[in-house]
Amino acid sequence: MARTDALNRLLVIDDDEDVAEFVKDVAEELEFDVAVANDHGQFRNCYDAFMPTIIVLDLSMPDMDGIEYLRVLGEKECRANVLLLSGFDSRVLKTAVRLGEDKGLVMSGALQKPIALEVLRGNLEALQRKASPVTVAGLETAVSAKELYLDYQPKIRLRNEDEKGTMISLSNGNWALDSCEALIRWRHPSQGIIRPDAFIPFAESHDMMVPLTDFVMEEMVSQLAAWSAEGFKPSIGFNVSPKSMTDIALPDRLAKMCDAANIEHNRVIAEITESAAMTDVQVSMDILTRLRLKGFRVAIDDFGTGYSSLVQLHRMPFTELKIDKSIIMELGIEEEAETITRSIIELAHNLGMEVCAEGVETEQCVEILRRLNCDILQGFYFSRPAESQSILTMSKGS
Ligand code: C2E
Ligand code: CA
Ligand code: CA
Repeated sequence: MARTDALNRLLVIDDDEDVAEFVKDVAEELEFDVAVANDHGQFRNCYDAFMPTIIVLDLSMPDMDGIEYLRVLGEKECRANVLLLSGFDSRVLKTAVRLGEDKGLVMSGALQKPIALEVLRGNLEALQRKASPVTVAGLETAVSAKELYLDYQPKIRLRNEDEKGTMISLSNGNWALDSCEALIRWRHPSQGIIRPDAFIPFAESHDMMVPLTDFVMEEMVSQLAAWSAEGFKPSIGFNVSPKSMTDIALPDRLAKMCDAANIEHNRVIAEITESAAMTDVQVSMDILTRLRLKGFRVAIDDFGTGYSSLVQLHRMPFTELKIDKSIIMELGIEEEAETITRSIIELAHNLGMEVCAEGVETEQCVEILRRLNCDILQGFYFSRPAESQSILTMSKGS
């Protein structure tokens, strides 16, 4: 059976034709496309063409047993969810699941024979892939029809407060504002608001990041101009995708946009993740240096999630380091988190960078970070990302 357009394609591998037929019926009721292999020959004939998204695999078969199938699937780098079937006890099934995981397979459970209809249906439903609202055409429309917009999250300055002036009024008091981070959202006509994690990776893998980042930069610059007209002059950070770190002309385009709107370059911060900066060090270095030469600030984002050392990063001209929220959210819970945070802050300061902690959700976290000499804090404790109008209101409230 050849591959179909169906989102869900299930391959059942079982020498027992009755069982295979039973699984097929249940799966077809759930609108799966189904292929059946009763032996190794049939498996070989259909696997590569059909590309299943789920495989239901019997462990004991006469010609080639389930464990050998797991090995073959592992060699084929199969990404389907694998569900095992067996008449053996649960310990055998558990061992087989572990074996599959060791071979890099996505093991999604094990069902004991005889299989109850409801149990099988429940398992298949849980693994069913739902159609994603994110498509190339949809995203192109989103850019051209302005369905995309930016929310802004305040970044609060703890140290050197007198250097940068703007204060903002939040529910927990008045704070010195360092800048805002621009975060993209998609107001989808039928799906409601879609978060960036649901469409940025798609845009990256479909070569759509240049128009998307241009949209973000243009929107950010016109927001800076609009706020300036109201007497509110913060800086804004925006996210540069790893894909854009090969876009050599980006610094020039950004500079042109700022100049056309009369925006000082030092009010713009480009945030680049650690892994993006390290993918092609030469090109990253080129882009980062040219951003700096033009007067923009550059921050290393999500620090602590990649494998680079601060020493490697030192060679790149970053002005700010943002510690990832996965570390910050452990402060006060895991002792190690404080040790790690303290070391990062000390090293970054010694290398001439300011430090921003992301994911600050509690007062306790603020106190720890104050004690550790962190410069800038960002997180739900202060404010969630908000619409530009709300940010302006916050700035006027103080
Ligand atoms: P990021 O750059 O690390 O952005 C911070 C994310 O953390 C935001 O999620 C923000 O809402 C969330 N956050 C902030 N404070 C807290 C907190 O206290 N607790 C928790 N749990 N979360 C907090 P968001 O807006 O969903 O963005 C997710 C990611 O999508 C961003 O991570 C960024 O990598 C990417 N992204 C957002 N906008 C853009 C964009 O314009 N371009 C590109 N290339 N990527 C973007
Ligand atoms: Ca960021
Ligand atoms: Ca981040």
